[in-house]
Amino acid sequence: MEVILLGTGSPMPDAKRGGPATLVKAGATQILVDAGRAVVMRLTGAGSLPIFLSGVLITHLHSDHLTDLNDVITTHYVMSQAETPLHIYGPPRTQEVVNGILASLAPDISYRLAHHPDTLWWQPKIIVTEVTPGMTFTIGEAQISVGETNHAPVEPTVSYRIEHEGKSLVLGGDGIPCETLDAICKGADAYVQTVIREDLVSLVKNKRFLDILDYHSTVEQAAQTATRAGVKKLILTHYVPSIQPGQEEEWRALAAAHFAGEIVLGDDLTATTI
Ligand SMILES: [Zn+2]
Ligand SMILES: [Zn+2]
Repeated sequence: MEVILLGTGSPMPDAKRGGPATLVKAGATQILVDAGRAVVMRLTGAGSLPIFLSGVLITHLHSDHLTDLNDVITTHYVMSQAETPLHIYGPPRTQEVVNGILASLAPDISYRLAHHPDTLWWQPKIIVTEVTPGMTFTIGEAQISVGETNHAPVEPTVSYRIEHEGKSLVLGGDGIPCETLDAICKGADAYVQTVIREDLVSLVKNKRFLDILDYHSTVEQAAQTATRAGVKKLILTHYVPSIQPGQEEEWRALAAAHFAGEIVLGDDLTATTI
């Protein structure tokens, strides 16, 4: 499997980092996990496009993780040469969110149907599957299992474990360490975790910003989860605050103090093979 960090940013706007999104290539099967800001631009940078996706997995319905799901849906629609379904998996209420996106696209869709009646006569076909912890299903060549995470008060939130040809990858989404996260990570070849720097966030004397500390894993906590679960490779993303040029090794050292395996972090489009 190949893992490409499409967007390593967070809700905080950053000219160089897209919002949370990760592309997983499992053989010929391409799976997008979350669809944050600039996801379609970064998909293009990774040599992919929405029409090449076998499925989209959403970890939770915070806006930073799906703000450009609209672009994935629209670009998939306008580039499909035949009526092609787009499969989206996410926690309960994902259907409600997709319905809202499609409602916002109603004028656009009507213009396209009027303009290309001989080549585009279908509405976007979005097949939503709402998932709950414990569910397993298949996307193309990959086996997916759904785990429970703790990102309270955001509920429900889920993690995904993707298995392909004997390798396993966990995408933990947002949240703090918990037993169910340990369980789904157990023995995984790689684990992607969204992280914050508690030491840096604490310096900002803004109550709403400080509130994020209680529902995200710190760099150290992500490393501790990886160690407890016996994970081989730790992949960090969703950096709050953004990693500044030259700071990568400082972030890596914080994780390395709690985890002896390989640690991957970097700019958008950082890729690693499992
Ligand atoms: Zn987030
Ligand atoms: Zn979140």
